[in-house]
Amino acid sequence: MAAGSDSVLIVGSVALDSVETPSGKVERALGGAAVYSSIAASFFAPVRLVGVVGEDFPQEHVAFLTSRRIDTRGLQVVPGGKTFHWKGAYMGDLNQAETIATELNVFQSFSPKLPEDYRSSGFVFLANIDPELQLEVLDQIDSPKLTACDTMNFWIEGKKDALLDVLRRVDVAFMNDAEARQLTGESNLNRAANEIHELGPRYVVVKKGEHGAVMYCDQSMCFTAASYPVHEVVDPTGAGDSFAGGFMGFIARTGEVNEANLRRAVIYGSTLASFNVQDFSLNRFKRLTIKDIDGRYEEFRRIVHFEPAG
Ligand code: AMP
Repeated sequence: MAAGSDSVLIVGSVALDSVETPSGKVERALGGAAVYSSIAASFFAPVRLVGVVGEDFPQEHVAFLTSRRIDTRGLQVVPGGKTFHWKGAYMGDLNQAETIATELNVFQSFSPKLPEDYRSSGFVFLANIDPELQLEVLDQIDSPKLTACDTMNFWIEGKKDALLDVLRRVDVAFMNDAEARQLTGESNLNRAANEIHELGPRYVVVKKGEHGAVMYCDQSMCFTAASYPVHEVVDPTGAGDSFAGGFMGFIARTGEVNEANLRRAVIYGSTLASFNVQDFSLNRFKRLTIKDIDGRYEEFRRIVHFEPAG
């Protein structure tokens, strides 16, 4: 095996988030799609992070990332620059974030340059970020076993052509239900997933917030999972990224892309997402262990188990 072929390379936003939910609010807390997904993946496999921050990004956040199995040599720091800032609120509907401000800052002039040894990564996750940057990363990697992407309404509206190019080149597309509908203009989710499959990805995973996730393999639905019943959702930010990071990290740990592992990956993804929403920012992940994760995975299994017909 080439060195690093069990690693997950992740590119995406590294952010300071200001978020308000019915449970409270945080200002300029650690966030970003690449951060949530890297921490989630790091419970299972080594991670290589690609992103950019400004000089205002607190050193303690970098220390937190490196204290997990996350290689941050691909995280550029722009002298005098300002970190990406997202401001969002959840009012009433916890499944739907309302974006109040997106300040791209250092991401506006970012061009990812992968450290040489990152190129051999076996697993690649293009987390939410400008699809043109996602393409630049795809151009720099050798021959990964599995590639996946995520996106959001901001890029579907603003950079649809680049996003379609990304979809042509990845194996897995993660999308939430609203994004799948927005991208295809199709209100029926099964048909929307089929259309996305036709754009390129072999697997389409549609996340439905508190209603679980559905995975389509080739043309048909191959797995559907409820979400874990969390009684107090404090902050849904990063749930989708935690799902995808947990999914990719778990697949990297197994080293093998097959349907049984993909199904387990969906449940691990849902498990990570269910923990993440129990606190603001990355706070719940800071005190999470693999034992907690496996415990909830098993609980999940008991909840969804049922006997054969008859
Ligand atoms: P999620 O709740 O999983 O959809 O992702 C939330 C994260 O996405 C937050 O931590 C934000 O910093 C990040 N985010 C918000 N808008 C964008 C954007 N336009 N591009 C990249 N990341 C974003």
